[in-house]
This record gives sequence, C-alpha cells and structure tokens, in this order.
Amino acid sequence: MERNKGLSNFHTHCGLDDGTGTMEEYVLSALSKGFDALGFSCHAPGTLNDGWHMKKEDFPYYLEEIDRLRNLYRDRIEIYVGLELDFLDDTEELVGNEYRDQLDYTIASVHVMKHAKSDTYLSIDGPIEEFETLLHDNFNGIIQQFVGHYYEMVERMMSLYSFDILGHCDVIKKRNGENRYFDPSAPWYAKLTKSMLKAAKKHKVRIEVNTGGIARGATQESYPSVEMIEECAQLGIPLTLSSDAHQSSHIDFYFSQADDQLVQAGYRNIDILQHGMWQSVSIV
Ligand SMILES: [Zn+2]
Ligand SMILES: [Zn+2]
Repeated sequence: MERNKGLSNFHTHCGLDDGTGTMEEYVLSALSKGFDALGFSCHAPGTLNDGWHMKKEDFPYYLEEIDRLRNLYRDRIEIYVGLELDFLDDTEELVGNEYRDQLDYTIASVHVMKHAKSDTYLSIDGPIEEFETLLHDNFNGIIQQFVGHYYEMVERMMSLYSFDILGHCDVIKKRNGENRYFDPSAPWYAKLTKSMLKAAKKHKVRIEVNTGGIARGATQESYPSVEMIEECAQLGIPLTLSSDAHQSSHIDFYFSQADDQLVQAGYRNIDILQHGMWQSVSIV
C-alpha cells in the first residue's frame, strides 16, 4: 500500500555522526519521495565520545544547517531538529538530554552497557565482539540475564525520563540472527517484552517501528517484532514509523510493507510531527 499523505521520518542520521552524506542530501531525498516532514536525529554528543556520536563542537553547525534547510525548503517540506539520546545503566544519565530545549523532539535509546572489567561502555548493537564481551564478562554467558538487563534498562529509562520516541525497543535481538543466542518465542522472552510494553503504556511512551535493521541487513524484521506490534495494538500504544536512515536513499526503506503490517496488527493511524505538534495521521 502506498500512502500519499503524512510521509515522514524522524529518525535520520547523517555525516555528522555514523551516517553518510550531508543533511541537504537527506532533504533532497525526502523531497523526491514526496515527504511532508523530515526530522534529523544524530547520536547526541556528550559522555559517549566515540566514532558514532556527533562531536560536541559540531552541534552549533547542526542547528544552523537545519535552520538554513528549513528556511530554504520551507514551502515544500517541514524540517525538524532532534537528537537520539543514550541511556547509561550505571549513572542513569540520558546523554544529550541537556540539549532538549534547543530541539523539536528527542528519541531515547539503549545502545550500550557498562563493561565492568574495563570500565568502558560497549555497544549491544555494534560489533559482535562487544556483544559477546558483555554477554560473557557481565552475565557469565547467560543470555537471559543479558536480555533481561537490556529490558530493565529500557523500563528504567522510561520511568526516569520523558522523551518523544522510544528508539528500536527490541534492538537486543540485532545479533540474534537465526536465533543464534535465544528463541524469541520462549516464554521468558515474551515475559520481558510484555513487561516493557506495559511500562511503556503506563508512562505514555510513543514507540517507533524502526526499519533500519532491515535496511542494513542486520535483521529480517522491524524493531519491534510483529508480535510486539500486535501487543502494542492491544495496549493502545501510539506508534510512529522510522527508517533510522544512515544514508539518504534509505529514508523510506520498507515503509509501505511496514504500513501493511501495522494495518494488519490493527492500527489505523500513526503519529507524526506536523505543524510543530505530534499528530495522529491515517495510514489506511
Ligand atoms: Zn539507535
Ligand atoms: Zn538511530
């Protein structure tokens, strides 16, 4: 199904973090695909000062350039500025939250855990070596504990902070291709995801359906899974659709299939940022 209204994406990276290309390239791609709105969400600068976060000194340029593009293309597309913030398990910091007054919206995600042995943060969705190191050193190789700690972090983040979008809420499955580490249909896993979604409902959190894993060949399905989207529908959790694009041609990757999945799960509307406010738009 092709939607002709409300096409938009609010989870967009670029060359200032771990994406590629200029912000203008993403705007031009959005225009060519008939988007109504586009939001940028670079990985927030701050505590996690590594290769995939925006550098602190680039933040003023980020704001200026988005402002320039917003004015330049004002008649054709709405452009918004956001950041993807990281929750840290040991300090409970939401990295980048201090910038929120300068932003139109925020995405909150869990990407890292503190590796006890080296006292550094390792990613759960980055290199497989980092995932394995966390699994073996922090959790004695017990995958249920690792996955449980991930969902506990997501729940803690939702209870401590407010934000506009919960990022890729089951990204812990990213390295689980062919059920290499766990069976997502196992009762212990369903219990964790159900608990997290109930907490999302309680805290009035908006969840994204993120197609970025498929675009980059890491997963066969969106974040969250179809089963979890059905659970969201039952709970009445508002969803938004995101591509988590790291290259400009991917800004609507898998969107029409995802729309179909959402309709099948019982959704008739999703949330988008339009005229400066989150609004519910029809996808049927
Ligand atoms: Zn992310
Ligand atoms: Zn992202």
